Amino acid sequence: MLRIDQLKLPVGHDEGDLTKKLEKILKIDNVKNEQRRYSCRIIRRSLDARRKPELFYVYSVSVELDPKEEERILKRSRGRFISKYEPKVYHMPEPEGMNELKGRPVIAGTGPAGLFCAYILCQNGYAPILLERGEQVEDRIDSVNAFWKSGRLNPSSNVQFGEGGAGTFSDGKLNTLVNDKNGRNRFVLDTFVKFGAPEEIGFSAKPHLGTDNLTDIVRNMRMFITQYGGTFCFNTTLTDIAIQEGHLINVKAESVQKDGSIDEVVIDTNCLIAAIGHSARDTFGMFNTRGVSMSQKNFAVGLRIQHPQKMINELQYGRTDNDGLPAADYKLTNRTQKGRNVYTFCMCPGGYVVNASSEEGRLAVNGMSYSGRDSLNANSAVIVSVDKKDFGSEDVLAGLKFQRDLEEKAYRLGNGDVPVQKYGDYKDNALTAEPGDVIPQIKGRYRMANLRELFSEDINEAIIESIDKFGYTMEGFDRADAILAGVESRTSSPVRINRDDGFMSNIVGLYPCGEGAGYAGGITSAAIDGIKVAEAVMKHFRPYDESRNELS
Ligand SMILES: Cc1cc2nc3c(=O)[nH]c(=O)nc-3n(C[C@H](O)[C@H](O)[C@H](O)COP(=O)(O)OP(=O)(O)OC[C@H]3O[C@@H](n4cnc5c(N)ncnc54)[C@H](O)[C@@H]3O)c2cc1C
Repeated sequence: MLRIDQLKLPVGHDEGDLTKKLEKILKIDNVKNEQRRYSCRIIRRSLDARRKPELFYVYSVSVELDPKEEERILKRSRGRFISKYEPKVYHMPEPEGMNELKGRPVIAGTGPAGLFCAYILCQNGYAPILLERGEQVEDRIDSVNAFWKSGRLNPSSNVQFGEGGAGTFSDGKLNTLVNDKNGRNRFVLDTFVKFGAPEEIGFSAKPHLGTDNLTDIVRNMRMFITQYGGTFCFNTTLTDIAIQEGHLINVKAESVQKDGSIDEVVIDTNCLIAAIGHSARDTFGMFNTRGVSMSQKNFAVGLRIQHPQKMINELQYGRTDNDGLPAADYKLTNRTQKGRNVYTFCMCPGGYVVNASSEEGRLAVNGMSYSGRDSLNANSAVIVSVDKKDFGSEDVLAGLKFQRDLEEKAYRLGNGDVPVQKYGDYKDNALTAEPGDVIPQIKGRYRMANLRELFSEDINEAIIESIDKFGYTMEGFDRADAILAGVESRTSSPVRINRDDGFMSNIVGLYPCGEGAGYAGGITSAAIDGIKVAEAVMKHFRPYDESRNELS
């Protein structure tokens, strides 16, 4: 197979133009030359705006032809943009573990990490039990919309908690810095396509799903895992673990019934995958009490900023009409004079700022978009790296407390609604009377407040210095009527649950997994970590065998 890169076509090109360009470069023609037939597939498409307003799509394609023909083309091209191509295909390993499972493996959390872990295990006869503290996605959507409308929070089912995990109400960006040598990245994308995602995510340089697609994909994955022997327990929270001589022997959970009553559940098992996400603060507390080895982890906090999407399109594309073009994005970084790292995070083109709280009396924001990315504004979080100096303690949960303190302040500042302010007023430490030309696009109730009261002056200065600096790179980024909202505090996990090369914690049978455990950041990397943990479980335990368990 050959890989052809740098196939450049103007934005708005006709469908057939790519084939024409390819055949011209390869001097082949599917019609005329029977024996020189070929098949091809787009493997990458990116947007080149370096000569804006002239914009181009740059394609890479794979082509399969007669081997002799491939050799002839390679020789003639002297390797210029044409190379031999071996796609990295993920091969699911066979179970090879010799240790016996005492009970079915339990997965706590149905975010990307938990779901992909279950997806692998169920196909290999491990019949996992999935505990999810939140509701199944259909009910969760109602709870989240009700919260955004009324302000009444369901602490167990919200933007952070519930089937599909934190990323369900998101922009669903699938980029990751993880470059997996075993093809797990591609496997994750192909799996999303298998369960309903648009094919395009398989080759887009910046693939994204949007909340509307994500909810369907999550439901389809649930149906598949159930069909293959997995069991989902919604409204069921892992509350405790029992350990004997350093080995896990069972897990405890609380299951909320339809009538509101709570059932205590004990599941005998010597295998727990903790894929609980970065907001499972009570569960981190429980693990800490039970002696699970954990460490403090740095993260970042800040404010979400909104600009008119039209302004961002014009800046990035150099044109006012962006017909057929995706809503433009950006990524900005700055190191302040005092040595703080500040960067834009989780940018949502044509999106919304969302009230992403999960605890009463505490308020956190994040961003999301629908697949159409068609809201009036672009938004991103402008965040500052924080560490133990900011937490003021070595305690393993000090970062978690730091987050909670900020969220309590944000809650008070907005009196339970999302606190909002114009950038100019934030700089002047003044209250905003009313928005300017930038109309807030926020999911959840909001009100004007002085966000300057949220952070230490050191962090406020770092944010101001950086937004002003970003204004040089992107004219208008520092406009006085840009809308700020706070607090962005859940950028990644405040703890790491330590694990060894076998992906096991200091408790035998307990597998920390995904973002909450401190080993992933984002949907795709969490899914990849879920796959890796499933492989580790299959390396240690043989598949679940009901008959043997009944005997024991
Ligand atoms: C609003 C928002 C937008 C985002 N946008 C993007 C984006 O565009 N692209 C991107 O890559 N990433 C995005 N992220 C981050 C991404 O969602 C996470 O990195 C990813 O979901 C982490 O996956 P995970 O499976 O490790 O954990 P999570 O997705 O957090 O899932 C953990 C699950 O565990 C459950 N749980 C927690 N405690 C317990 C317990 N004790 N018992 C049972 N269940 C429990 C939770 O309810 C949750 O469902 C966004 C996050 C948010 C909140």
